[in-house]
Amino acid sequence: MTDSHAHISMQPISDDIENILHDFTSKGGTKILNASYDLPSINQVILDKISMSNIFPDLILTSVGIHPEEFIPTTLTNHNDSPLNQKFDSFEKMRKALDEYNTLVNKNIKHISAIGETGLDYHYFINSDKEEDSKLTTDQIEELIEIQKNSFIEHIEIAKKKSLPMTIHSRENFGENRCIKDVLNLLCTIGNGKIAASIHSYTGDIDLIDEIIDLGYYIGFNAILTYKSGENIRQIASKTPLERILLETDCPSLPLHIKGAQKYGTPSDIGYIASVLAEIKNISTEKLLSIVDENFNRIFCKTV
Ligand SMILES: [Zn+2]
Repeated sequence: MTDSHAHISMQPISDDIENILHDFTSKGGTKILNASYDLPSINQVILDKISMSNIFPDLILTSVGIHPEEFIPTTLTNHNDSPLNQKFDSFEKMRKALDEYNTLVNKNIKHISAIGETGLDYHYFINSDKEEDSKLTTDQIEELIEIQKNSFIEHIEIAKKKSLPMTIHSRENFGENRCIKDVLNLLCTIGNGKIAASIHSYTGDIDLIDEIIDLGYYIGFNAILTYKSGENIRQIASKTPLERILLETDCPSLPLHIKGAQKYGTPSDIGYIASVLAEIKNISTEKLLSIVDENFNRIFCKTV
């Protein structure tokens, strides 16, 4: 049982990490890809990998990247970040952040298994529901998209140079396809066909699944698959070939919506998510988990 996209260094999981990992391994969990999302969390995912390796050898793989939301001003995301957590919403701030990112990658390369969470997020660039004075101009939106693209390009270049797979975030402005099309275009042109990647939590247009699969990428499915509102994702899952499916929790986000479930996600949720996906695919949960584990090893474990 494998979790291909988790944030176990994030609270509240980090407060109880040992028990949560013990629960996962006791249920058959073998690997977790723990992804960073900002600069401080890069140090934390590396520290957690090292400190947990005595108790849980080979369980945690680390993925390092800066989430695309880090390049969006907090006035758009409405996230209550502390003033210390400044967003990199100008070309100058982006450059500084990416320089620091490059230094951290080079310093910690022996502990790094993947690049991400990175990608593009156009979700917040919707102007229609904003107050008139907080609306962005088209030029401002295009500049913020350009900043995100610069970051994503640099993440792809590092992945290519270090021969590392990627875990990728792509979120649309509702009803559009521009974000995933930009993601695929940059992966192909900058990655030059050399990047192994998972499009994590894909919630976009089902018609683009064929293109994602033809280009050789994987799709990560999480608890959204089990939600009442997840009909689109269940259809995407039914269309995605088994050999390109990964399971993930994106924990502590996306808790299970079932009786008695915790308020936040943990890697152990993979068991339930797998049972729902197995039903869609009309195979046993055991068979599904074994195929997904093979997929995980193929993309994220170099030695297999
Ligand atoms: Zn994530």
